[in-house]
Amino acid sequence: MAHPEFDAIVIGAGSVGNPTAYFLAREGVRTLVLDEMPSSGQGQNKAAIGGVRATHSDPAKIRLGQQSLEVFAQWKGATGTDIGWKKGGYCFPAFDEHVEATLQKLLPIQKSHRLNIDWHDAEGIRRVVSGITPVGLRGGTYSPDDGQVSPLKAAESFTQEAVRLHAQYRYREPVTSLVTEDHAVAGVRTEQGEYRAPCVIIAAGTHATRLCQMAGLDLPVLPESHEAGISAPVQEFLGPLVVDLRPGPEGKTTNFYFGQDSDGQIIFCYTPKEKFPGENRTSTFEFMPVVAARLVNLIPRLKNLTIRRVWRGLYPMTPDGNPIVGKAPNVSGLLLGIGMCGQGFMLGPGVGMNLASLAIRGQPAIEPGIFDLLSPARDLYGGKKESLK
Ligand SMILES: Cc1cc2nc3c(=O)[nH]c(=O)nc-3n(C[C@H](O)[C@H](O)[C@H](O)COP(=O)(O)OP(=O)(O)OC[C@H]3O[C@@H](n4cnc5c(N)ncnc54)[C@H](O)[C@@H]3O)c2cc1C
Repeated sequence: MAHPEFDAIVIGAGSVGNPTAYFLAREGVRTLVLDEMPSSGQGQNKAAIGGVRATHSDPAKIRLGQQSLEVFAQWKGATGTDIGWKKGGYCFPAFDEHVEATLQKLLPIQKSHRLNIDWHDAEGIRRVVSGITPVGLRGGTYSPDDGQVSPLKAAESFTQEAVRLHAQYRYREPVTSLVTEDHAVAGVRTEQGEYRAPCVIIAAGTHATRLCQMAGLDLPVLPESHEAGISAPVQEFLGPLVVDLRPGPEGKTTNFYFGQDSDGQIIFCYTPKEKFPGENRTSTFEFMPVVAARLVNLIPRLKNLTIRRVWRGLYPMTPDGNPIVGKAPNVSGLLLGIGMCGQGFMLGPGVGMNLASLAIRGQPAIEPGIFDLLSPARDLYGGKKESLK
């Protein structure tokens, strides 16, 4: 049985799907969101630690990050809902020549996009990151306009606002196939039936490859396990989200990052040296001892923290480490917001705004030349580049 028609269907109520639905509904687009989970944000959205920044090295991520930051920063004023926005900035301290050179090299690119970021000497970084060890500290970058947001609160609020603007959400309803007619998308099928719309947006996180295959597209989005944890709240003392790019002395981590959220909790993560491909979300016994040593080594006073919980989630990775965003090649009406890697939460609103603009006006909201850097038609394996987490 075919259900009533919609103008657009979003597959996935996650970091990308929820803002996309919000921006579509805000322009009067009759929007349906389908998710296989029982509520919004239950995929990888809730695994994110909530770091949001525009200070990337890739121009497309910079522009989408700028748009996202604007949305996050203005959300409470626009909707009245607190999503835990904290403008504490990002700080990348440097303890060796290699990290210093890497960070210094990025600054001219970042400044050419008018990002508010600067190099600070060791004294300056000690003022920004209260309690950071002075041992070996050479300086670092600090970008005060970046910040943090609660992924759980944001998913809930984007959903509520989209629904208020008449978007419909259906949960526990996985999309099982796409309906296509004459090389154009015409809707989707679930076990409950068929939904028709001339525009379908795939925002299915780690399941994106499967959904793309339904349209005959071979786009690799591969899940990779990452662990995180959170402490009980402590008095506010830490402004920025801190990223320590040094490999850990224990030989198990390539970098680690953490911040204090708007509720006072310290939220933290590391990048394992050995990658864990696949969907295993079982916490490991080694995460907590390894990350605790790194935290206490960097800021000794963190030894007094009480840890509340740890978890493990998945990055939806692409071969070149950049998201895949834009019109699907060869299937008209099909749009993709997939392969968000470790940055889908911070890029979500920017990606959503551009996908909504593509759906409504046929053009992205940012400069097309920059937007196309994320095109699904690019060579995903060529020019592999390193990007900062
Ligand atoms: C430990 C950890 C820390 C992280 N920290 C950060 C951070 O600080 N900042 C940041 O920006 N990012 C961070 N990330 C990355 C971020 O979580 C992801 O990049 C982001 O959530 C991906 O967004 P998404 O919308 O693509 O996927 P998701 O949020 O997973 O949404 C996809 C949705 O699609 C649904 N779905 C899948 N298949 C179907 C189907 N067939 N039918 C219907 N629905 C379907 C899923 O149920 C899911 O709800 C972190 C990730 C981890 C694991």
